[in-house]
Amino acid sequence: MTARADTTAQELLRLGGVTVRFGASGRPALDVVDLDVTAHEIVCVLGPSGSGKSTLLRVVAGLQQADAGQVLLEGRDQSGVPTHRRGVGLMFQDHQLFPQRDVAGNVAFGLRMRRSSRADQERTVAELLDLVGLPGAQRRAVASLSGGEQQRVALARALAPRPRLLMLDEPLGQLDRGLRERLVVELRRLFHELGTTVLAVTHDQGEAFALADRVVVMQDGKIAQTGTPLEVWQRPATEFVARFLGFDNVVEATVQGDAAVTPWGKVPVPYGTLDGPCRLLVRPASVRLTPVPEGLPCTVAARTFRGTHVALLLQPTGGPQVEAACALRDAPEVGQRVGIAFAARDVVVLDAAA
Ligand code: ADP
Ligand code: MG
Repeated sequence: MTARADTTAQELLRLGGVTVRFGASGRPALDVVDLDVTAHEIVCVLGPSGSGKSTLLRVVAGLQQADAGQVLLEGRDQSGVPTHRRGVGLMFQDHQLFPQRDVAGNVAFGLRMRRSSRADQERTVAELLDLVGLPGAQRRAVASLSGGEQQRVALARALAPRPRLLMLDEPLGQLDRGLRERLVVELRRLFHELGTTVLAVTHDQGEAFALADRVVVMQDGKIAQTGTPLEVWQRPATEFVARFLGFDNVVEATVQGDAAVTPWGKVPVPYGTLDGPCRLLVRPASVRLTPVPEGLPCTVAARTFRGTHVALLLQPTGGPQVEAACALRDAPEVGQRVGIAFAARDVVVLDAAA
């Protein structure tokens, strides 16, 4: 085998310059999107509503035609290949089980389409129900299942034909938070156990970060950033990504050596930051409370209990409000005067674009 064949064998999905327009005018729903997914990888596309996530999945599935660009699966161009010949599985938010069929009938759906033998179908259904935590549920009626159980059946149904790529569109969107948090951990374990390659989309950052090996953040049909959950969380690339993740301490700054001049005074920047104007993200973790005379004087405008910490909104005498975090026992009261100082470690210089 040549080196080239080796590299492409690893690459399950490649999107090259994929563009989709609905109607003649306006911005495209997908705007020259390039994306690679490696075999066995769990990639989660994260973005606000309308950023093009579902369109991306639909193009890969062949349910939506691209106006430009290519979709390659295992190196093969998929243009003209119908959905049922792409070897991909799709699970939507409204997972739509067949209400007149029992659990086994639902899970076996894709296997019947493939004309697997009855014995094979039964064995596969039993294995999958074990995997998704519903052993022995074959004969149960769909209507008797809870929301979380229905979600598991829908997942088993999507996995049954062993798709080379499993695509999930807001798979846990309908469920309440506790169940979602549990299921997402189970899903990750399950996909790793099975070696399933997954392309999932969600608007929920917690879900994306818990599920993914790699996160792709979308904005207006374009990829704003891609990286491991830790990379994206610690180093949002742009102001859009920072704000989408809930970071609001973003200011104009001018870097001079090891500090930046900001509306909050001098803020230290990481070693190696280039001099000049930029936008700066000061993550709350880099804001430290000090006695009033030692730091930038602020008034506590709001405090919110977050379980593991208290989120503070601080109003300096001049300049925009600052978000900070502190331990519950150290949290000042609303209206109290505090000082703040900044540490370089959680200060991020954002890209000029966007
Ligand atoms: P997301 O899944 O991120 O919420 P979508 O991919 O559904 O976003 O939509 C991206 C953009 O394309 C939106 O502006 C949406 O209104 C538009 N769009 C999606 N599907 C259609 C369609 N069938 N006809 C017209 N516009 C569409
Ligand atoms: Mg969508």
